[in-house]
Amino acid sequence: MNPSGFRTASRHLHRLCRAPATSRNASVRGYATTFNWEDPLVASELYTEEELAIQDTARQYCQERLLPRVLDAYRNENYDRQILTEMGELGLLGANIEGYGCAGASTVASGLITKEVERVDSGYRSGMSVQSSLAMTAIHDFGTQELKDRLLPELARGKLAGCFGLTEPNHGSDPGSMETVAREHPTKKGYYLLSGTKTWITNSPISDIMIVWAKLQTTGKIRGFVVERSQCPPGTLETPAIKNKTALRASITGMIQMDDCPVPAENMFPEVQGLAGPFTCLNSARLGIAFGAMGALEDCLDRARTYALERKQFKGNPLAKYQLIQKKLADAATDAAYGTLAATQVARLKDAGKCTPEMISMVKRQNCDRALANSRILQEVFGGNATSDEYHIARHVANLFVVQTYEGQSDIHTLILGRAITGVQAFV
Ligand SMILES: Cc1cc2nc3c(=O)[nH]c(=O)nc-3n(C[C@H](O)[C@H](O)[C@H](O)COP(=O)(O)OP(=O)(O)OC[C@H]3O[C@@H](n4cnc5c(N)ncnc54)[C@H](O)[C@@H]3O)c2cc1C
Repeated sequence: MNPSGFRTASRHLHRLCRAPATSRNASVRGYATTFNWEDPLVASELYTEEELAIQDTARQYCQERLLPRVLDAYRNENYDRQILTEMGELGLLGANIEGYGCAGASTVASGLITKEVERVDSGYRSGMSVQSSLAMTAIHDFGTQELKDRLLPELARGKLAGCFGLTEPNHGSDPGSMETVAREHPTKKGYYLLSGTKTWITNSPISDIMIVWAKLQTTGKIRGFVVERSQCPPGTLETPAIKNKTALRASITGMIQMDDCPVPAENMFPEVQGLAGPFTCLNSARLGIAFGAMGALEDCLDRARTYALERKQFKGNPLAKYQLIQKKLADAATDAAYGTLAATQVARLKDAGKCTPEMISMVKRQNCDRALANSRILQEVFGGNATSDEYHIARHVANLFVVQTYEGQSDIHTLILGRAITGVQAFV
């Protein structure tokens, strides 16, 4: 601070010292009497009434309607398509989109929805994120007005299911090397033919609408296409499910196989070229994951705490009485509270137009890392009982491992941050 700045600050402090205590709102200096382990840093103070109401609606739905289904869904890899319709009826899909039958809520409210869904299961969150942040955001941000008017209201209500095909069998972290190609139809004017294979695509087997990223044969540039299943002639589009996953089993995942699949030229996003299109959508999904992972971690903490209070070992003492157990709970509660505050801050910055992709990389990477590390440690609290899926902990751990790896690919986010900090590109 320069000397004149110091003098101004000093005068300001002196004025404050002379002011009567009441005008300084002395009460804010006291301590609250209660500590709420479920919201230790009182993140709820940062949310508007509307955001809290949306969170309540989402929590009630998730606990009453999703939780009872999740064990069967996970055991049998059985995703109930009806879930998208139910979410649509409640306004949970594309919640931060304005118009088109969407709620037009804040990014924070959207994040709180994903947190509540992932509190039940990361697979359910994944299915919802793909519909909202990937398929709907792509059409909203890049589609023609005709595509928006026709498809967004149906996607918002869950009448149509959507997916997002970027990853290919030979190209995951490096989608710029994709092989899927779009060439002009040799005989049918105003159509492209799409050929190639996308894999690990959430919702693809049940999707009516597929956002497919492909290289235009004439320019070599990546372009986005809306592939509508109902318009594809037999034999040009297959979307087989990928079974026997070791995690995210409550979501449905598959491939998109296209063999000269005809798509009208008006279904190509007119403006966006290159990776800016898919990365815009992925950033939106990843911010949701930063919130979602905290929901899964909070559920692990809640279940481990309950177990530790009820389970008695050594002289009839509850496990919760032992300091080694308490440390596990304290670490998890701290990381969940910090992660929620950080995600909230980035979501607020996004709505204020002040968010950068690096910030999203930071919170996605950190929150997934902390959720996975803490859930693994909390799993220990259950001893051998962790093996029973009735305790839900092993499922969260398996899910969080994949959530940390896929979509955001933690290594890649570390590289993005490293590049931003050093200015040196580490990808090549
Ligand atoms: C359940 C599930 C659902 C999915 N849903 C979708 C979806 O809806 N749409 C979609 O398009 N994709 C989806 N994916 C794919 C997901 O985005 C990819 O798995 C992800 O992009 C990583 O690609 P990869 O699996 O081919 O790993 P690879 O790219 O082969 O990477 C393997 C490992 O190497 C690391 N790595 C890669 N490059 C570097 C580097 N330069 N330096 C250091 N480390 C590196 C990665 O971080 C990773 O740990 C899904 C995946 C799963 C498992």
